[in-house]
Amino acid sequence: MSNRVALPRETRAGGLAAAMHAALKEHGGLWFGWSGKRVPAEQRELHRESARNIDYALLDLTREEHEAYYLGFANRTLWPLLHFQPTLMEYSRAQYAGYRAVNRMFAERLAPLLREDDCVWVHDYHLIPLATELRARGIGARIGFFLHVPLPPPAMLVNLPCHADLMATFADYDLIGVQGRDDAQALLDYFLVQNSGIDVDANAGSITINGHRTRVAPFPISIDTAEVAQESMAAVGNATHRRFLASLQGRKLAIGVDRLDYSKGIPQRFKAFGMFLDRHREWRSRVSYLQIAPPSREEVPEYRELRTRLERIAGATNGRYAEPDWVPIRYVNRSFAQATLAGFYRVAQLGLVTPLKDGMNLVAKEFVAAQPPDDPGALVLSRFAGAANELPQAILVNPYDPDAQVEGIEQALTMPREEKRARWAAMFEYLSTHDIGAWRRDFLGALGTG
Ligand code: UDP
Repeated sequence: MSNRVALPRETRAGGLAAAMHAALKEHGGLWFGWSGKRVPAEQRELHRESARNIDYALLDLTREEHEAYYLGFANRTLWPLLHFQPTLMEYSRAQYAGYRAVNRMFAERLAPLLREDDCVWVHDYHLIPLATELRARGIGARIGFFLHVPLPPPAMLVNLPCHADLMATFADYDLIGVQGRDDAQALLDYFLVQNSGIDVDANAGSITINGHRTRVAPFPISIDTAEVAQESMAAVGNATHRRFLASLQGRKLAIGVDRLDYSKGIPQRFKAFGMFLDRHREWRSRVSYLQIAPPSREEVPEYRELRTRLERIAGATNGRYAEPDWVPIRYVNRSFAQATLAGFYRVAQLGLVTPLKDGMNLVAKEFVAAQPPDDPGALVLSRFAGAANELPQAILVNPYDPDAQVEGIEQALTMPREEKRARWAAMFEYLSTHDIGAWRRDFLGALGTG
């Protein structure tokens, strides 16, 4: 169960979609979520279809529901708060009521489709109260929840006016998976400090209320490492890849790939790249930075503002440093297929992944998986991405520190090949075993269905 469902014929940017496909392809099952359609209430439909091993059930929402639940509470309240940006949080009681109502309706439609022995896996911050709504309809199945985004400590969570009501719904799950140890700790700490009538066993990683125990544990999400490596090899020599390579004219390449989102730290990164060129004249005309940034959530004002801001910074940096035959920042506002991206990563000497806060960041892992083993690029990675816990061999930087970013870029561009190889080999080996399949098996195993 997830807010958006990616049908097999669609290609969609977003870590969740890729992960769900990989998981369901093998296991089989039902994928339930929003259809992506907004219709008047009397025209609402539940769309059913099947492809390969997966049945799909997609429910329409009305415009008002979508506004309150998705654009409002999920993306203007929870998203900034959970990404440690409470000053960007917009809250209204009406939108929270809309969020709860949509969760209730999803549960109403899902409950009759469940079989006795099913288990339910709920994804992400749009659907936190879903288990509570399913339980209210008599569903006794095992229900697991995975939070793809970070979970801030209680002192920040309590900024949310409805925190007590929302957080209590976590206790209706059997298992709550989060990306990292900090996220698990934050959840347990919340119930400890709130004195909410929920018993916390911090050592065992569990909360208990009315005799029902919920386990809380980290399950860092990953990628299909072998597939990305394969795609990156296969890209070599295809027409897009050849054209791109030729356009670099032997220059080094830095690459960033992010949805246009303020949590990704793209303005800070653009500025740091400008500072790098300012301080290191020797690199001017010798390195190009390709930033792929497909627009997202354009109906939310903060995202439109970010887009305008980035256009200004990219334009100013390019105007200042460009030569007739070289542009420092190639800024591309569209999305590409994962296989095409894998080919781009392979050509890059430097991956720039510097979110201000990120649950995991799959691009960091994909960049590593796509590198050529004999001459891999280096990864500059934000300490505040979940991936940093697993990839300590990357060049870790604080994205709020422009000087650290400049040093990171320089270190990556001048790192001896042997050192790059050693760092990359350790990361690739880790990702080869800790891949998306392992993530799915670990979570479902812990939920009791693996
Ligand atoms: N992605 C893509 N095409 C694009 C940009 C991104 O397929 O043009 C994919 C990318 O390969 C990755 C996912 O979208 O698998 C982004 O996941 P990530 O965890 O980095 O960030 P999120 O967008 O989920 O916040």
